[in-house]
Amino acid sequence: SASVNLVFRKGILMATSNRWVSRFVRRYGMRLGAGRFVAGETFDEAVPVLRRLNEQGLRTNTTLLGEGVRDETMARGVADTYCDVLDRIAAEGLQTNIALKLTHLGLDLGEDIAYENVKRVVAHAATVGNFIRIDMEESARVDATLAIYRRLRADGFDNVGTVLQAMLYRTARDLEDLLPLKPNLRLVKGAYLESADVAYQKKSEVDRNYLYLAERMLDECSFTAIATHDERIIAHVIDYTKRHGIGSDRFEFQMLYGIRPQLQRDLVRQGYRVLVATPYGSEWYFYLMRRLAERPANLLFVLRGLAR
Ligand code: FAD
Repeated sequence: SASVNLVFRKGILMATSNRWVSRFVRRYGMRLGAGRFVAGETFDEAVPVLRRLNEQGLRTNTTLLGEGVRDETMARGVADTYCDVLDRIAAEGLQTNIALKLTHLGLDLGEDIAYENVKRVVAHAATVGNFIRIDMEESARVDATLAIYRRLRADGFDNVGTVLQAMLYRTARDLEDLLPLKPNLRLVKGAYLESADVAYQKKSEVDRNYLYLAERMLDECSFTAIATHDERIIAHVIDYTKRHGIGSDRFEFQMLYGIRPQLQRDLVRQGYRVLVATPYGSEWYFYLMRRLAERPANLLFVLRGLAR
């Protein structure tokens, strides 16, 4: 039921910061099935995975997993890696863009550091005709993330977009403030543990806000990415775009690698644009824990791996 899932979700997200849980999962996670959600520990391992998805008519984005970097040299190194990955994507002819997290690029060290790093990646992406999506992290990072997005747009970069979370009360206001920029936005429910001060706690409330925001975005944004595995939301969006004559070049569905692959292919067959977010890297711990929190069955999947 919805309330059992809520308790489960909070429990997993709280356990994520526990030292013992972290040690155990980092040690055994790959063996236990993290590979279902992650395309490999290196970009070399991710390339054939991305190619296979492209061959099935699926667009992809990729992410070097990692977040919360507190060392300036390391944060700069992440930006360097992304520039190399962009060259590699072009050389391999992949239909793949990049989604990145600003705390991976040094946001915790200061807004200017993350801005300089992401600007370098976005500028490099522009030279190879690629696009950068700035993921949205915890509610405490929303102001800085949107400020950096605005700075990049003010610099004249159009090959950049960001993400809004339906679970936050503030998002409707944030969206209206962004609309004059004709932004390229991804809409998600929100993957982080947030308090009732800032976020809807009930799934029904998050879903209702999601539908409202999706319609506003589809009407007003230059491009909208509907990122969800929720079939009711997907059906609603299909119906809405049909009724309002919103062309399939103005939006796409986005799902995560390893989640609902059949649904991904079904939507492609129906003529919709579908992008599969396909991360790689050895820092998969937080990513895996958010995926486990989203669905009790995923924890069972991992625990079954333990028994093998
Ligand atoms: P839910 O109501 O959680 O799930 C609906 C149905 O989808 C479930 O009944 C189940 O059938 C299926 N499902 C959902 N999750 C899983 C799972 N883990 N395993 C198996 N089945 C599942 N969040 C952020 O906070 N910031 C971001 O930048 C961000 N980017 C994202 C990018 C993409 C492409 C996607 C797909 C999600 C992203 N998210 C991000 C995560 C998002 O906020 C949700 O936590 C996640 O998508 C699960 O919610 P849902 O919309 O699928 O709906």
